[in-house]
Amino acid sequence: MKPDSERVKHAIEVATKAHEGQFRKTGEPYIIHPLAVKKILTEWGMDEDTIIAGILHDTVEDTDLTLKDIKHEFGESVAFLVDGTTKLSAARNGMRDIDTYLPETKDNFLRLMIALGSDIRVLIIKLADRLHNLRTLSALPPDKQKKIAKESLEVFAPLADRLNMGLLRVEMADLAFKYVDPRRYEELKNLIEKYNKSAAGSLKKIEQEVGAALRKEKIHFEISGRVKSVYSLHKKLAKHNQNMGEIYDLTALRVIVDDITDCYLALGVVHSLYTPMGGRIKDYIAVPKQNGYQSLHTTVITKDKHIVEFQIRTKEMHEYAERGLAASFYYNEQKLTENYKKGKIEHLPTNLLWITELQMTAAKLREGKKVDLKKLRLNLFADKIFVYTPKGDIIDLPKGSLPLDFAYSLHSEIGDHVVGVKINGKMSNLNKKLEQGDVVEILTSKNQTPKQNWLDKIITPHARQKLIRALRLKSEKDKEKPDQHIPPAKKK
Ligand code: MN
Repeated sequence: MKPDSERVKHAIEVATKAHEGQFRKTGEPYIIHPLAVKKILTEWGMDEDTIIAGILHDTVEDTDLTLKDIKHEFGESVAFLVDGTTKLSAARNGMRDIDTYLPETKDNFLRLMIALGSDIRVLIIKLADRLHNLRTLSALPPDKQKKIAKESLEVFAPLADRLNMGLLRVEMADLAFKYVDPRRYEELKNLIEKYNKSAAGSLKKIEQEVGAALRKEKIHFEISGRVKSVYSLHKKLAKHNQNMGEIYDLTALRVIVDDITDCYLALGVVHSLYTPMGGRIKDYIAVPKQNGYQSLHTTVITKDKHIVEFQIRTKEMHEYAERGLAASFYYNEQKLTENYKKGKIEHLPTNLLWITELQMTAAKLREGKKVDLKKLRLNLFADKIFVYTPKGDIIDLPKGSLPLDFAYSLHSEIGDHVVGVKINGKMSNLNKKLEQGDVVEILTSKNQTPKQNWLDKIITPHARQKLIRALRLKSEKDKEKPDQHIPPAKKK
């Protein structure tokens, strides 16, 4: 690890002095906590400003240090990040147990996170802060433990997932679940351990077989077992009526190869050795998950009747699956930081469309504009569906999208001139909800103009924005040429 820069060293001095005489519930000096947050952020490969803000994140709230001091010593960017983190925790302190507020609290909290998350780095500092608090949760009284653990499961772990920070999500969820339902946690943990022990021998054999076959094909690879987390098993069992027989990914092997071609070659190798289970081949390389996750998944039955899931991906994909957005920061640190400074909305390198949406929403909230939270959640958090153009291009849309959403996502020129839609080759109407895998063909006419009532036939903010602009242009045009205005026909 790189040695600390002068700025980082200075931040540690300032924070140590500010927190002097304060202690954590564990009895240790308070500075232990900001230093642990700093360590986590460094491991995630975050930029220097974020690391410094992490060191200082509790000073404004809990010490005499002011934002002005921080701005003076460390610059505007650090001050902004500390301010965001402080506001987030101040708002949270006003809330009691997350249960007593549901669903409003969760809404408000998410809303707040989103508003402050205009700089995603604020959320990342908050996640590092939460991770350390969870790791040291045993020092708190039981009621506080439960509150923090529940909130972590319901808000923070899903947030980590949305940022595709896989390692963080797993650690947070399991740490928290242990406090939320200790008995169930122990039960499932033992079950996983027992299963892994009994499967270890055959897994080794499978690893060797696959390894030999891959070497024969001259594919470079690394192979390792992946342990399923307790909380994800708990959630899966709930989905499958507690039927262990339906959990197919209890044992998974990860194969990491050099490039995308090798991913598909390796998939072929695995399928030539074992029988793939129908309907369980998932190509998240061609169609990444909403959080940007990419991998090939397949579940196979071995000769000894073992069911094993394979996850095949490149090194870059693996890095991104584990570290998620933090990994992007690492690679794009300079560019992102520059743009944040200029207050630009950043279009991220991965296809994390929802983050761009989040940033646009945040900008609206800051301007005091009204945001329809129901629609927002639909867009940010509901599952996406993937539909196709007749040419086979994949368009991802939120679940519940309508043909006009599709049309506007192609181009506003197409959206503005829609006269009809064919879904899977059949004429349909503009109120028909699109389904996963539909082939959608939009029929247009030059003479068509956008209609006011189309506003009821779209659900995505993107389409809404484009339609409203088109409607405004249309009405301005109509006003400019009063002689061309055709009065409505008289009622008979
Ligand atoms: Mn803290």
